[in-house]
Amino acid sequence: MKYYNLKDNTEQVSFAQAVKQGLGREQGLFFPEEIPSFDNIDALLDMDLVERSVEVLAPFVEGDLSKEALYDVINSAFDFPAKVNKVREDVASLELYHGPTLAFKDFGARFMAQCLSRFTDGEKITILTATSGDTGAAVAHAFHGIENIDVVILYPKGKISLLQEKMFTTLGGNIRTIAIDGSFDDCQALVKQAFDDRELAKTIGLNSANSINISRLLAQICYYFEALSQLKKSGETSKVVLSVPSGNFGNLTAAMLAKALGLPIERFVAATNANDTVPRYLQSGQWQPNDTVATISNAMDVSNPNNWPRIEYMLESNIIDKQLLSSKTIDEEQTQSAVIALNQQGYLSEPHGAIAYKAMLSDLKADELGLFLGTAHPAKFKEVVESILGVPLALPKELADCASEQILSIDMSADFAQLSAFLLGE
Ligand SMILES: *Cc1c(COP(=O)(O)O)cnc(C)c1O
Repeated sequence: MKYYNLKDNTEQVSFAQAVKQGLGREQGLFFPEEIPSFDNIDALLDMDLVERSVEVLAPFVEGDLSKEALYDVINSAFDFPAKVNKVREDVASLELYHGPTLAFKDFGARFMAQCLSRFTDGEKITILTATSGDTGAAVAHAFHGIENIDVVILYPKGKISLLQEKMFTTLGGNIRTIAIDGSFDDCQALVKQAFDDRELAKTIGLNSANSINISRLLAQICYYFEALSQLKKSGETSKVVLSVPSGNFGNLTAAMLAKALGLPIERFVAATNANDTVPRYLQSGQWQPNDTVATISNAMDVSNPNNWPRIEYMLESNIIDKQLLSSKTIDEEQTQSAVIALNQQGYLSEPHGAIAYKAMLSDLKADELGLFLGTAHPAKFKEVVESILGVPLALPKELADCASEQILSIDMSADFAQLSAFLLGE
């Protein structure tokens, strides 16, 4: 399969090249040249996660990974489950946080690391990525100890929780972390600048593991199939409305790709916090990012979502009908009451999942099942959840293990010259 640059159709690359390159010219995003269509969806839904994911992704990696190699990639990347959990008759959550860093980003990061380690011919690769929390942990764990790949992670100093920070800044080895004096968007801008510096990028074999990397999105397609498989196997017949708590809109992009492949998702709800560029855009047609606002759902504190051009493309080219996408902003107070409401129904949640729950609730029709994504384990947002619910939360083993480790980050201002010198080892 070829992938082309959405900003410049003449740039076409293989899957391996798209994974290695991350972004195309002019910071354009890669998009598959064709969307395969599956007419055997029911048969796919009857398979298990690994077997099915190989079938679904095989056309996307054709030419670069054999089915056997793809099986090995998926089998080692997806070694933890995605779980559908019924909250009540017409509402369920898709829990994507049972991986090593307790957030959905484990799926994409682990799949990408496995792909990339097979696509290098011994040349040096530097992964440079910006994180508002969970990406850093997922990328650090996915790449930790992989030969010939160095990882440098930027994050906004003081703007992520201490536990989140500990999950990726304590590993050492091939993982180096930098606390930037600025916002997540500043971090993301620095990463983009580094990629624009062709010479720097070439010298250190620069690669992004952010959700702009097509491999991560492909991995995420797989858990939407898994969700509908579990629902089917449990005898569920309602139409599935998917509510996605969105920051960079990678998760929603993957969901739309899953639908384009034939997965019967009825419609989509894009849920955001106060960083509401997309809901305002869908209302007014004007793309007007404001300054990023800090919220309790900090992994969604993104005002200029980097995956949006892919969604825009799918809507404009009718791959996905515009009518199927609605969007809602959930404020801090509504977020907190949603965590409480879920808890009263016996379901422990955290701000991101709660936003998705809240956003789809009011428009849910009688023949629909609202499936909201649980993107992170509640304990990952321990302080916030404890203060909302007034009860102590136990730490799962993954978090307890790193809580006592030392943070190895260095501090840096949001200055490209400094970052460049650091990357070049000057
Ligand atoms: C990254 C993240 C999101 C946002 O996902 P996008 O794909 O960037 O839209 C939502 N919730 C959590 C917990 C996250 O880590």
